[in-house]
Amino acid sequence: MTEHDAAGVVGGGLLSVMTRWERFIVPSCKLCATGYCRNARVTSSIKRQCGDCTLCCKVMAIEALSKPVNVWCAHCRPGRGWAIYAERPPECESFSCLWLVNDLLDEQWKPSRSKLVLTTSEDGLEVRCDPGFPNAWRKHPYAAEIREWAVAGETNDMTVVVIVGQRMILVTPDREFDLGIVGPDERILRKLDGTKVVGATAAEETDLGRT
Ligand code: SF4
Ligand code: SF4
Repeated sequence: MTEHDAAGVVGGGLLSVMTRWERFIVPSCKLCATGYCRNARVTSSIKRQCGDCTLCCKVMAIEALSKPVNVWCAHCRPGRGWAIYAERPPECESFSCLWLVNDLLDEQWKPSRSKLVLTTSEDGLEVRCDPGFPNAWRKHPYAAEIREWAVAGETNDMTVVVIVGQRMILVTPDREFDLGIVGPDERILRKLDGTKVVGATAAEETDLGRT
């Protein structure tokens, strides 16, 4: 599941390479420090249901169906559920967004309401916007909470990335790094000063070994 992970020192700053497009939650991620961890599935006091939400069937890529990101799955009936629930691919069956499993996220974060699907990657938290609502993450109360996670993440080396279409934005406590469209073969390269992110860019994975 982990596609790439590396770090090196260039120009006096620590460069950290992030994984990207992580489809599933990685058990060894750093989110346990913040409470936004998949293991909340085990400890969660609530049993949520997707109900009328089907947003992950739009924003996530489904390899088994060759479904790209940000188009509705052909088997989805938006707002009503799935036509092939019993036969859905294993990657759909095992998927849970964070709202579904983590009671730290209240009802406002339900994806059908927030227009945001939260998942984790090895590096941290990913916030995927419904492309029909590209500014959803900037609205109240989401923007402030996303920034709070970035603050908590800085000391834990946990990243917060907002994904709007194929555009990725790395959110830090005091900045946003708009990385533009990050291709499937690219990785996010962060420049760190201590724990503070002072630069970020996307680079071809094949070029990273030459850094
Ligand atoms: S985004 Fe979350 S709540 Fe919505 S359908 Fe997917 S798993 Fe269920
Ligand atoms: S197969 Fe079912 S669960 Fe998976 S994306 Fe399509 S509609 Fe959603």
